[in-house]
Amino acid sequence: MTTITDSLHTARFADRADGYHPSPVREVFEVSMRPNMISLAGGNPDLSGLPMERIADMAHQIIKERGQEALQYGSGAGTTELQELICEIMAMEGISAASENIQITSGSQMALELVTKLFCNPGDVILAEGPTYVGALGTFAGLQADVVQVPIDNKGLIPAELEKTIGTLKAQGRTIKFLYTIPNFNNPSGITLAPDRRRAIVDICRAAGIAIVEDNPYGLLSFDGSTQQALYALDPDNVFYLGSFSKIFSPGLRIGWVLAPTEVRKRLQLAAEATTICPSVLSQMLVESYISGFDWRSHVREACATYSRRCDAVMDALKLHMPEGSTWTRPTGGFFTWITLPTGKSVDALLQPAIGAGVVFVPGSAFFAEPAGTNQLRVAFSFETDEALVEGIRRLGVTLTALPSV
Ligand code: PMP
Repeated sequence: MTTITDSLHTARFADRADGYHPSPVREVFEVSMRPNMISLAGGNPDLSGLPMERIADMAHQIIKERGQEALQYGSGAGTTELQELICEIMAMEGISAASENIQITSGSQMALELVTKLFCNPGDVILAEGPTYVGALGTFAGLQADVVQVPIDNKGLIPAELEKTIGTLKAQGRTIKFLYTIPNFNNPSGITLAPDRRRAIVDICRAAGIAIVEDNPYGLLSFDGSTQQALYALDPDNVFYLGSFSKIFSPGLRIGWVLAPTEVRKRLQLAAEATTICPSVLSQMLVESYISGFDWRSHVREACATYSRRCDAVMDALKLHMPEGSTWTRPTGGFFTWITLPTGKSVDALLQPAIGAGVVFVPGSAFFAEPAGTNQLRVAFSFETDEALVEGIRRLGVTLTALPSV
């Protein structure tokens, strides 16, 4: 029998396989692991404040007392207990939700995939902020949806630009399925959508017959403890809300959710069952125990104090070390700041010398579906220590200053 070569297999791939590319964040991940490398790249939460002993006890108790259930298949929608706890969490952002409208997923990444699968045919348009979450771009590309990005400013998505983009696309006869937006402490820009723009954006989408996918993994991570009003709370019939325990508890447990109107939620469940049968029961039970049996809000507040302090350290270091003409956003929560280089400086030219100097980041182009962001980059301040962040920014500034302008 002749051997089947890799190229024979790849020649048989479906068209959608061309949409899957290595994530730029994952690519720099390997570089991040090098000794003495300071990583401003990955948006990992700081788990150092988690009560590991308590969590270990909870896991032990779950297996010992409810092992038959925890290690078995479970409901396709998720456990009722966790759905109810999620309703309580979302109430903190003004959302009044029924637990049966919640589909639990393996992280909000899966929720993104499900919503896109359910709504988008190849060639349908998804609107998104420019820049937007690189992982969402990967999902959308894999499902052959076209992403059109709408400009932002320091108050977030610009309503007039959204309206203009919708008008242009409609005039071209394009089908727009939804606006994908990260209103709070956006990944990658760090920007939060201003309160007065929320109603405008909800109204524009409603009038244009476009749904909204509100992705909100960072909403509870404000530096001052305040919460923003969810878009979902403004128009529950037209917004699908994506939440996650990854940033407020643990990304490793892979538990997120979608809140959607009844018919959509039911179809999401069928799509979820076709993918994973059911979310991990053990993970859900551990999240349930943690949320109901531990003062998780205090943990979040403590983690936010750390993120806030690290963000301040980065802001001060940027002021000190970045060359004239550089600008950056000033986040009020979350994990990221977004840097724009002075005219003539290119991020592509900066990356390798920066790695050589011992600092790595994600280039801005990763956050755009079309060529853009070539003079921009994302800095994550969530994971490295204050000292490492300051040193990382210093290395970045020194490398950038030495870089010839193009
Ligand atoms: N959306 C955004 C904006 C994110 O930043 C992330 C994680 N980096 C996700 C979704 C996916 O998170 P999860 O771990 O819940 O899948």
